[in-house]
Amino acid sequence: MERYSVIKEKNPREIVLLKGFNCMYGNCAFCNYILDNTNNEKEMTKVNFEALSKVTGKYGVLEVINSGSVFELNKLTMEKIKEICKKKNIKILYFEAYFGYLNRLNEIREYFSEQEVRFAFGLETFDNDYRTKILKKNFILNERVLEKLKREYQMCLLMICTKGQTKEQILNDIEQGIKHFKELVVSVFVNNGTQIERDEELVSWFLKEIYPKYKDKKNIEILIDNKDFGVYVQ
Ligand code: SF4
Repeated sequence: MERYSVIKEKNPREIVLLKGFNCMYGNCAFCNYILDNTNNEKEMTKVNFEALSKVTGKYGVLEVINSGSVFELNKLTMEKIKEICKKKNIKILYFEAYFGYLNRLNEIREYFSEQEVRFAFGLETFDNDYRTKILKKNFILNERVLEKLKREYQMCLLMICTKGQTKEQILNDIEQGIKHFKELVVSVFVNNGTQIERDEELVSWFLKEIYPKYKDKKNIEILIDNKDFGVYVQ
């Protein structure tokens, strides 16, 4: 288990993986991160304070993730993040926030008024059918929603190489992601005990033919392994 790490490539930043209350949605078929959620606030605070104590502010950029959304962190953790930002001179702060919080993001921007707050969200794929029916992530993209997402979120997270996906879908997802969002994070799926399975043929194809084309592009980060950002629970 690692809850603090430093990302040195492309978009250098410190990253902490904190513990939060239950994910507001909690039903994505591929998600095992929510096993890290807790209702024990004392434990949450202890774990989070420890991870946050490692932040040095070396890049002035901090990413905070928590197997859910920033809205599921407790008050003491939020106050501690604020204190660390001030102490360590953090200028840019990243958080994850599920689609369902789309209309509440300003609450966080107002709370961290001294930082530039950037939000990330897991779209997983631009294919509405695959997202809702297979991945069980329950929101539909249309032009209006996409425009709003583009305004509100800086970073889009995609998941690739699961069974049932096609090469065309993956290529389209990456191209759409680059076109519509300032930053894109693409994760190659790793089996995690959920009903969603990795497609090894797609992984081989992606690593050989596609990865080399994108690996040096500045605004796209590709996680070949889900530990590539250096923070993980399992
Ligand atoms: S919204 Fe995120 S944390 Fe919640 S179940 Fe889906 S993938 Fe997991």
